Amino acid sequence: MSTITSPALVLNADFRPLSYYPLSLCSWQNSIKSVFLKRVSIIENYDQEVHSPSISLLLPSVIALKDYIMPQRKPAFTRFNVFLRDNFTCQYCHDRFSANELTFDHLIPRCLNGKTSWNNVVSACTSCNLKKGRRLLKYTHLKLLKEPLRPSSMQLQNNGRNFPPNFLHESWRDYLYWDTELQN
Ligand SMILES: [Zn+2]
Repeated sequence: MSTITSPALVLNADFRPLSYYPLSLCSWQNSIKSVFLKRVSIIENYDQEVHSPSISLLLPSVIALKDYIMPQRKPAFTRFNVFLRDNFTCQYCHDRFSANELTFDHLIPRCLNGKTSWNNVVSACTSCNLKKGRRLLKYTHLKLLKEPLRPSSMQLQNNGRNFPPNFLHESWRDYLYWDTELQN
């Protein structure tokens, strides 16, 4: 990996990643800036060095915030978070899809005054969405995988762990799977 693309994994002050999905990463330039501003501590380094006329520095591969950021109690009701709650799985055919292949489906259709809310919106693939149409579930052959509920931030974080990015530097692993490592 070249210097240009070596990002640092960003941990909260409790040494857990700020976010699993998308994984909290920071460019090496911003990591070094934050180190000098004393906002973060360097936990692990890459072997690569950066030089300036006066100093040379190993690039940080894992940094931790000095001040703890409280996770949001109530996650925002966004498309992404609905998909993440449902593990990017169509709630009718139970297959997993990428975000751009999934749609929102209203359990109680909008034409019947169904709300756009955590309890009435589920992830559905285009094909199931078409099959369901503007009908109530009981008038279709589709079976709902899971009753939709408002997730906690913790649930979303946990679901995010199922989607590791393509690149994971070895120095990150201890911090990413910290809980599971302890359980094993
Ligand atoms: Zn489907």
